[in-house]
Amino acid sequence: MFGSLKQYVFSGVSRHYKDETNRRIMVVNLFAAVGMSITFLLGSRAFIDGEYSLSTTLYTASVVFAISQRLQVRFASARARTWSITLLIICLMVLTLLLLITGGKDNTGPLWIYLVPPVTMFFAGFVRGLIALIAYTLVSAIVLFGFNDASFVANYTYAFKTRLLYSFLTVSFLSAFYEYSRQKSYDTALYLSEQFERQAKHDHLTQLLNRRGAQQCLEREYARMLRSKRKFSVAIADIDRFKSINDTLGHEQGDEVLRQISKVFSSRLRGQDILARWGGEEFMFIFTDTDEAGAVNALENIRDILNNAPLNINGSEIHVTSSFGVSEVNPDIDISCAVRRADQALYYAKDNGRDCVCGFSSLSSPSFSEN
Ligand code: GH3
Ligand code: MG
Ligand code: MG
Repeated sequence: MFGSLKQYVFSGVSRHYKDETNRRIMVVNLFAAVGMSITFLLGSRAFIDGEYSLSTTLYTASVVFAISQRLQVRFASARARTWSITLLIICLMVLTLLLLITGGKDNTGPLWIYLVPPVTMFFAGFVRGLIALIAYTLVSAIVLFGFNDASFVANYTYAFKTRLLYSFLTVSFLSAFYEYSRQKSYDTALYLSEQFERQAKHDHLTQLLNRRGAQQCLEREYARMLRSKRKFSVAIADIDRFKSINDTLGHEQGDEVLRQISKVFSSRLRGQDILARWGGEEFMFIFTDTDEAGAVNALENIRDILNNAPLNINGSEIHVTSSFGVSEVNPDIDISCAVRRADQALYYAKDNGRDCVCGFSSLSSPSFSEN
């Protein structure tokens, strides 16, 4: 019993949807079930009492509540959810207006209109909810005050009608205010969590991805490569003699060198390539759909630019060079192996005079062994 109730409430919920969407789906399920049951019970009661038009109205509402719930589960799309919510709100509005017009059982029908503001605001959101509520209030006011002598409208006293309208407006205002602040807090929470996520993956000095962000990109590219069988390459760049730059210019100017170098590196990359700060004065390149030779070529261009365009640090020109180690990633070479190989190629570049690009497959030293 509890299991099937839980299954009903969670029907249509998916881990691919946003939390807000899932929450709305669950509330629609619950609201439709409650609406369906109450209208069915009251409809049956009216039927037993011989009030056939009231019971027909209530039975119809019960069916519409059921249809609106099935819509969002059956079609599981954003459009179906919008239709489901629209149907639900329209059904509730029409039903409560009919109860207002006919008076329902012993003129108690108007009591149900207080359901409209919170339900409409919650399902339709602040702006659309407000528009729907204004329209509903206008129609209710016309029903209450526009047909004073009409026989088809229930007979309410003037005092009852005005109090009903005022109290309805108060509940509407409170519901709108609640929904507005709820949406604002939700937007703020969403913004903050996106900011935290961004900060967790980015380096604040260069604004590039940090090592964690780079690891995630590597894993994503690796999965893509296994699907498409299109190899990619990784490279590690290490600034040459950076310690002496720090010693000569000071740590702050050293930071500025890192910022400018990161701009030079990223300015020469294609849109789909990725640059990250791997740590300290080391950078990681990810060249998508590129074999080792292609990556070596691209890095030679970058090295050329670095050699021919000195950096401008605090008004003085500084000549900075970098060494690069490159390795391909393919179905036989996984990420950790490729990073290890790129690192080894980088050490080889450092040992062989610095300011050069070294691809792992070009390492020919017999003394070199992969560990
Ligand atoms: P090599 O050519 O062999 O790479 O020499 P190097 O001096 O660059 O190598 P080493 O790894 O010995 O020195 C790296 C230096 O980078 C040491 C460290 O103080 C400096 N460094 C690391 N991170 C930062 C940073 O964020 N800002 C600054 N200014 N310096 C940093
Ligand atoms: Mg280093
Ligand atoms: Mg260095």
